[in-house]
Amino acid sequence: MKQRLTALILLCALLTGCAAAGKGEQPLTATVLAMDTVMTLTLYPGEGDGGQAAMDGLRQTLEQLDAALTAGEGGEAAALNAAGGEWTAVPRSGALLAQTLELARLTGGALDPTAYTAVKAWGFADGNYTVPNREELDALKAAIDYTRVELSEDGAQARLAPGQQLDFGATAKGWAGDLLRQQLEQGRIVSALLDLGQSSIAAVGTKPDGSPWRIAVQDPAGDSGDYVGILELSGRSMGTSGSYQRYFEQDGVRYCHIIDQATASPAQSGLAGVTVVADSCLLCDGLSTALFVMGLEDGVRFWRENSSLGFDVIFITDAGEIFVTSGLKDSFSLADGEEREVQVLE
Ligand code: AMP
Ligand code: MG
Repeated sequence: MKQRLTALILLCALLTGCAAAGKGEQPLTATVLAMDTVMTLTLYPGEGDGGQAAMDGLRQTLEQLDAALTAGEGGEAAALNAAGGEWTAVPRSGALLAQTLELARLTGGALDPTAYTAVKAWGFADGNYTVPNREELDALKAAIDYTRVELSEDGAQARLAPGQQLDFGATAKGWAGDLLRQQLEQGRIVSALLDLGQSSIAAVGTKPDGSPWRIAVQDPAGDSGDYVGILELSGRSMGTSGSYQRYFEQDGVRYCHIIDQATASPAQSGLAGVTVVADSCLLCDGLSTALFVMGLEDGVRFWRENSSLGFDVIFITDAGEIFVTSGLKDSFSLADGEEREVQVLE
């Protein structure tokens, strides 16, 4: 029997609003709308730990990041995209751009922030969905190329090649997750769950009773809130990319929001959902997008060849098969009533 846990968690968060701080194990919860998604922040402050001030600080950081990183009006990505190939100031997004480009290099361009050129052309930026024709796709393919993005040595200025467009949609939530966690760790909050929406999650410590956080993993083939299993998380992060998160259908084909630079088209890799677990939320966010593009075979090879990065993966295929890398075999469990086999990758 499948359960609608995510929806329930969200509803609880909305109903509890801001609970009182500092009362034993009672959480302080806030819902923030940022980066086009609903974020739910849950803190367990101890007595006198300044929970409300910490929450206000998180909210402020999120608002600032949202304004700085957006490819929409006023954001640094928008300024870069409008600059027609000229150098542009990126004081607040330069560090994220540097790390995103590093992940692009590491993943051989499976993650590529200049995929935004195609994201826009397919209508994912404004909802006017369209399937570009062959000539348009060829032009888009030529424009998607992270190696042509330049960043000044001090990281404060960047420029794109003419015709390129960039966004931080694949890494901004992870970046935010790491920054918020650091902010809490510099204070006195040792137990918190930061759900940045669209499945980027950063955990601070464990639950107050010392047990791990239990996170529902969405079933890509189910309705929103139908989960396939539970992932236990202590002081780490997770990020999920899936074709069910944003898509449109035309002539019986589903086109999702994640672009494969090889085709300048929505990735059709045979995967329906990829969840990455690692210490860094940015790594989870960036790699989940990249592994989704790579598909199962190349994704597993990438995991095996990059073990030094310290990440694990849950791959769920279009056919509903579940593959889990060995580091998660004890922390991932199927939902009650779920009878699928979980294949462990070594
Ligand atoms: P995510 O949901 O983290 O997998 O990121 C997907 C978002 O990142 C999309 O909504 C686009 O804005 C952008 N994007 C799409 N394809 C790619 C790609 N291959 N590399 C980097 N960003 C992408
Ligand atoms: Mg991502």
